[in-house]
Amino acid sequence: MGSVSASPVSTQVDVAIFGGGIAGLWLLARLRQAGYSAILLEPYGLGGVQTLASQGIIHGGTKYALTGKLTGSSQAIKAMPGIWRDCLVGEGELDLSRVRVLSDHQFLWSTSGLISRMAGFFAGKVMESRVREVKENDRPAAFRNPGFKGTVYRLDEPVLDVASLVSELSRQFGDSAYKLNWPDGLRFDHARRFSLLGPDGAWQTLETRQTVFTAGAGNEALLKCLGRDKPIMQKRPLQMVMLKGDLPPLYAHCLGASANPRLTVTSYPLAGDKTLWYLGGDVAEQGVGRNHEEQIAAAKRELNQLLPWVDLQKVAWGTLNVDRAEPRQSDGQRPESGFVQAHEGLIVAWPTKLAFAPRLAEQVMAELSEADIPPTSESTNVSLSIALAQAAIPPWEKEHLWT
Ligand SMILES: Cc1cc2nc3c(=O)[nH]c(=O)nc-3n(C[C@H](O)[C@H](O)[C@H](O)COP(=O)(O)OP(=O)(O)OC[C@H]3O[C@@H](n4cnc5c(N)ncnc54)[C@H](O)[C@@H]3O)c2cc1C
Repeated sequence: MGSVSASPVSTQVDVAIFGGGIAGLWLLARLRQAGYSAILLEPYGLGGVQTLASQGIIHGGTKYALTGKLTGSSQAIKAMPGIWRDCLVGEGELDLSRVRVLSDHQFLWSTSGLISRMAGFFAGKVMESRVREVKENDRPAAFRNPGFKGTVYRLDEPVLDVASLVSELSRQFGDSAYKLNWPDGLRFDHARRFSLLGPDGAWQTLETRQTVFTAGAGNEALLKCLGRDKPIMQKRPLQMVMLKGDLPPLYAHCLGASANPRLTVTSYPLAGDKTLWYLGGDVAEQGVGRNHEEQIAAAKRELNQLLPWVDLQKVAWGTLNVDRAEPRQSDGQRPESGFVQAHEGLIVAWPTKLAFAPRLAEQVMAELSEADIPPTSESTNVSLSIALAQAAIPPWEKEHLWT
């Protein structure tokens, strides 16, 4: 991946984005709307790795405030559900009115002993009106069982069908999202000048006013390709669990003793009236290193303890190992919010949360303005002679992940 001699004609583009997860797609949309010519380069499939593997929860910080105090994370993320909701009704910075909202709220429930602490906390000013107790009749089906003794709270933060979000952003802006032949088809001269290998075997040189890496876990290899080793990345692995069958739709967090939910369940409607449950939270964090069977056994134990009346006899099970990619933190823990760093023609960005994508794009646009890079081109779309990138599929559609 050394440098190539400059080809006689190079294509000019205001901004080139590497990585077509939510960070890259949202940024591409915002840049094009602002009048920048922008392209996105994606080697595998739009929707990324983490994005389509995510639970689609547009957090407003409540999850992070479960210890009873607002952390930096919960402060930064507070505004996100509002920004997304505006977009989802077609009145925000992007028109996402065609994106499917799986649920406009989630539930919180707790193992006994924590209820009183939660009640006091939720009643406090700190959570404003986002959380309220749910009467017995209004509970979701999974809690309408005489065996359930706890309290259920409703949290007004939406859960999105991320595949529909990706497909909508691709529909609107995918005409400037190209398939990158990685690693063989990319050669950097420097951050603002690189060449792409086309299907005809010819190299095409691009010059940008700004290059942005939003490649998630791929940022590290891209930086290396440019001869850089900073910013340093960290990965926080998860082993998610999937089950499908005759399950009631559920969007809920079970609170345990720690600041993280013990279990987070999101659902996805499947063909034939079946439902997918996608399990995250402590069960996924602690499942790293277990093999597929051990992780399924652990998830079964957890569900049998927390929701013993849910029939798991006839469900199919799957697992997914996936890394969260973020800027390195001195303690290795979750960063408080999204990360954007500009240096010599390159911006490296990790949103750290799907919910933070709008804020990340805003931060990148602020960097462009700081660097005095206004939109200059007549057209926001740049046509290259390489194939367009296609959308990736969600993990539960990948057969090999199922038992
Ligand atoms: C299991 C899981 C559940 C989550 N749940 C939630 C949730 O409910 N709510 C929430 O807010 N956040 C959630 N998150 C976090 C959220 O998914 C991520 O922060 C977010 O999706 C990151 O987006 P991204 O675009 O930076 O990365 P990605 O989605 O990983 O996209 C990066 C893209 O870069 C591409 N790429 C890789 N290498 C290269 C290269 N060399 N050149 C160009 N492109 C490259 C990849 O193919 C990929 O398409 C979750 C994360 C995980 C893993």
